[in-house]
Amino acid sequence: MAKLALNGGTPACTRSWPRWPQWDEREKSRLLAVLESGEWGGFNELVGEFEQAFARRHQARHGLAAVNGTLTLEASLRVLGVGPGDEVIVPPYTFIATANAVRLVGATPVFVDVDPDTYNLDVAATAAAIGPRTRAIIPVHFAGHPVDMDALLPLARRHGLFVVEDAAHAHGSRWRGTPMGTLGHIGSFSLQLSKNLTAGEGGILLTQDDQLAAKLRSFINQGRTPGGAWYTHGLLGSNLRITGWQAGVLLAQLERFDEQLERRMANARRLNAIFEEIGGLRPMGWDARVDAHAFHLYMLRYDPAVFGGVPRDRFVAALQAEGVPCSTGYAMPLYRQPPLAEPHSRVTPCPVAEQACQEAIWFTQNLLLAEPAAMEEIGQAVLKIREHVEELRH
Ligand SMILES: *Cc1c(COP(=O)(O)O)cnc(C)c1O
Repeated sequence: MAKLALNGGTPACTRSWPRWPQWDEREKSRLLAVLESGEWGGFNELVGEFEQAFARRHQARHGLAAVNGTLTLEASLRVLGVGPGDEVIVPPYTFIATANAVRLVGATPVFVDVDPDTYNLDVAATAAAIGPRTRAIIPVHFAGHPVDMDALLPLARRHGLFVVEDAAHAHGSRWRGTPMGTLGHIGSFSLQLSKNLTAGEGGILLTQDDQLAAKLRSFINQGRTPGGAWYTHGLLGSNLRITGWQAGVLLAQLERFDEQLERRMANARRLNAIFEEIGGLRPMGWDARVDAHAFHLYMLRYDPAVFGGVPRDRFVAALQAEGVPCSTGYAMPLYRQPPLAEPHSRVTPCPVAEQACQEAIWFTQNLLLAEPAAMEEIGQAVLKIREHVEELRH
């Protein structure tokens, strides 16, 4: 008689997991207010209200909302003057938008390996990859864990490089007390449906630099200048404005934001303790300088030797069958995707990123919004699989 749910046994875990996105009457009343105002577009006053609220929450001088977290990266590079002939250092273990933004402004992505403990840009490897054409670095605070900014920022300064933080996973994360998105020249956030703060689609830029803020503001709004005439366009621009609907929803989502951030961190600590005890699934590092961690993803590193040599993908299928939603993450580093392979990029050796694609297991942030008892059930499901691992070996 099979015990594992993958083979027809009874699942270890039958609870329903927190759904995402979450909403209540606050979103409904915001949306109704936008509807009745007739100001459905980007000039609804709620857009500015959201920008200020998000910027304040992250201790930033300026917040600039835009359509998504891909075009925010592209706009950042454009406004910094990065383009053809320039190289931009990016990690290969991230969502494709990070590197596509570089190509879309005509520059060349340079792939540099990640750190095995965080899957974030390896700063020593970054230093080794800097060449005469390097203009910028895009550190991705992957899964919400900040890149080592104590090492990265002085390196960038020494070489006169721009730093555009891809903080698409890092809403509310802090490095030694400072919110992510404010340490580089520009910080870019995604507000897409899966992200920790969402309006379905959307993005926002943070900067402490008044001139960069003015340029970004103008680029987002067709090259206009604030207070200028409607059909006067001083700069090359585009339309990246978000709608009043999005701003209304985001203001409501912000009211839940801090409580959710705390809850994810508390459950991540529980999972770390549970997995350290079980063995075979190593939690990622959590640097002592990271005093807030968004946990957009909770990741583990799978060791097949502890599970009778069963491949990771089969283990993940078994865990899913036991009622625990999880996935294997990226199947390959970005330089294996055709639009980013050489000669569209420069690739330095990335053995850690290769290994990450083989070993990582991902849980999405909404799983960490469950009650504490649910974390224990995840551990029970893993123990059950280990106990009956023979069932997975044929
Ligand atoms: C989601 C994401 C983006 C792109 O954001 P969109 O809003 O979906 O365009 C960029 N970088 C990373 C790391 C992301 O996860």
